[in-house]
Amino acid sequence: MLTTITTGALTPDKREQSRILLVDDQLPLLESLQALLRINGYQVDLATSGSEALARLEKNLYRLVLLDLQMPVIDGRQVLQFIRQQQIDVEVVLVSGESSFHSVKEALRNGAYDFIRKPYEPEELLMTVSNALEHYWQSRQLRQAELSLHESEQMHRFIVNNSPDFIYLLDPHGIFTYVNDKVEDLLGYKRSELIGQHFSKLIHPHNADDIYTLFSEHRAGARATQNIEIRLLVNEACEQVKCLENAELIVELNAIGRYENDAMGQRTFVGTLGCARDITARKRSEARISYQAYHDLLTRLPNRILFNDRISQVFAHARRNNQKFALLLLDLDRFKLINDALGHALGDLVLQQVSKRILRCLRAEDTLCRFGGDEFVLLLPDIATKEAVTAVAEKILKAVRKPFKIKKHELYLSVSIGIALYPLAGENKDTLLQSADIAMYHVKAAGKDGYCFYSDAMDGSDSTFLSVERDMYLALENDQFEVFFQPKVEPVSHVIVGMEALLRWRHPEKGLILPGDFIPLAEESKLIVPIGHWVLRTTCEELARWKQQGLPDLKISLNISPVQLEQEDFVQIFIDTLQEFDLNVAMFEIEVTEQGLVEGQTEIVQRLRQLRAYGVSIAIDDFGRGHSSLSYLQDFPVNTLKIDRSFVREIEEGQKKTCVVDAIAMMAKGLNLHTVAEGVENLLQLDYVTNLGCNEVQGYLFGEALPAQDALNMLNARPAEGPHFILPD
Ligand code: C2E
Ligand code: CA
Ligand code: CA
Repeated sequence: MLTTITTGALTPDKREQSRILLVDDQLPLLESLQALLRINGYQVDLATSGSEALARLEKNLYRLVLLDLQMPVIDGRQVLQFIRQQQIDVEVVLVSGESSFHSVKEALRNGAYDFIRKPYEPEELLMTVSNALEHYWQSRQLRQAELSLHESEQMHRFIVNNSPDFIYLLDPHGIFTYVNDKVEDLLGYKRSELIGQHFSKLIHPHNADDIYTLFSEHRAGARATQNIEIRLLVNEACEQVKCLENAELIVELNAIGRYENDAMGQRTFVGTLGCARDITARKRSEARISYQAYHDLLTRLPNRILFNDRISQVFAHARRNNQKFALLLLDLDRFKLINDALGHALGDLVLQQVSKRILRCLRAEDTLCRFGGDEFVLLLPDIATKEAVTAVAEKILKAVRKPFKIKKHELYLSVSIGIALYPLAGENKDTLLQSADIAMYHVKAAGKDGYCFYSDAMDGSDSTFLSVERDMYLALENDQFEVFFQPKVEPVSHVIVGMEALLRWRHPEKGLILPGDFIPLAEESKLIVPIGHWVLRTTCEELARWKQQGLPDLKISLNISPVQLEQEDFVQIFIDTLQEFDLNVAMFEIEVTEQGLVEGQTEIVQRLRQLRAYGVSIAIDDFGRGHSSLSYLQDFPVNTLKIDRSFVREIEEGQKKTCVVDAIAMMAKGLNLHTVAEGVENLLQLDYVTNLGCNEVQGYLFGEALPAQDALNMLNARPAEGPHFILPD
């Protein structure tokens, strides 16, 4: 009867995996042993000699060898030696008849686990086998655990040393006990140079004291240092990190306190574990981004956002110290022309050079900003006197006037500067900017290339005047003006003999504005000069178009302000423009008011004579309205009198007042002057002025001033008979 035994710890599947080799030169003994083990669930192989045993063991299939010590040729000791040398993973139990203590002791010393003496009791043998296998599996598990522990430690070491971050351990006194390899790349120290050193070696003295407590963090958990930005000192002696700016490294720090239980079971602080991430690159790109957000990239000057920031600082400072400061608005003159003619790339170079020149005129505390386009704003803080601002403005004007050499071009520029002084011209940013803007347009209107203080500009006029002036300037730049045409008619035939060009302002918000509402302001600011040039050009353009369409020459009247006639180059520009469009000078008549002539200096009369000599007719507009003496008519080169519409308006049935019109008509006849009645609104008035012998009439009866295209359509309405009116009976 063969014994079976249930062993405790060895599970059935472990038992199945536990293949056993029986080694003995006595086959019968082997076979009975094999039977005993098999019946107990083991897999068993046999070897009847030492050499057979070695051959089988080499395959490493066995977890246990039951080994007879006494065998011929190769005995049990040699097998044991082989197992040890080959490091075969197997447990050995000796089965021996030899009872000599010495042999067994030696075998146990050589790595055998246990021994059992022949003849054996089956229970004893099974128990020994089971224990040996139990031991085998346990020690194998332990070895595995050791192996994986070793591996994971290696892995951690690898991770720590290959981490892009600087990782450190401090002892409770702040001495480095560990730093990872990265410290060499990042800070330029060898590990050995830091270990044993106090961490203050790495902390910049500029850092506040709290950085010390953060770096050697004692707190653990959520309150520990998290993502705190600090600067670490790099080893300046190290070549590799020399390129770093300021010899410091910006890092983001995470650190926690480490605690262990001491012998008494008390939690004690054992140091700090920290991890510092290099964020230099991130900081650089952040710096670049914020630079881009606050600067104009073309000129590298502060932009509007940074200006807002600076001006609020300047305000705060000025208020606190009761100081004045100046805000200057600078706008390049005719820059658009350069841009259009030479291209944007060249225009950009101009802006760069201009900003450099202006900067050279400034103190360190002044701020020059670019607001876009050719517009710059300059802040001059802490200004003692107005003269100090004047000096800067004049310096800038002079600097910009010097020719610019850009690529092959030599360019001449100028700048218009509007100046607002705090607190005189405004107490907040917007009003100051607005004041400077108005003052700047005043400079533009008065001929550009200069400066003007807002307070000066206000002398004798109110601020709405100034903002209209600014608007008019912009209207000219933005093509908001238009020329309308009103027909002049021969009173008997009703044939259209001429047109008067009348200016209109199509304002984007206010709609159509009539000249009475802005011409006086344009005259006062001298903006009428460029506006007048524009009217002349636009009218000529239109006439050239009419001519192209085959229309006969008409008499064209242009209203000319005395301010225009004061300009030295008026006649030249007038005649040049007509020639440019290839128009007949004799078509043109200019209308000048009495007022303008009476006040006019001899130069004006001189210019009118020149125009006459070229063939231009001269008409006195609004004749009779002023209280002027009529004597001047003999001295002036006048062709036509336009009877003011206020007199025509008074022509009513049976009224006596009309005698003024009669008197003017008679006098004109006497002086051999052409007469035009303006403001003719009804047939009664038409009859009356016709009977007086007026040569032409103009008024709502025939038509009001029309946009150019409508006027052209009107002229084209009766192609067979030529342009004329048919009035209802
Ligand atoms: P003005 O030269 O006496 O022009 C005649 C004005 O009377 C025009 O007003 C015209 O629309 C208006 N009108 C025409 N027919 C009648 C009518 O039957 N009844 C009434 N009640 N009015 C009539 P507008 O266009 O508003 O021009 C006003 C003034 O502005 C002009 O008076 C002229 O002195 C000035 N002006 C117009 N265009 C220019 C210009 O291009 N340059 C200059 N320097 N002054 C201009
Ligand atoms: Ca007129
Ligand atoms: Ca008139």
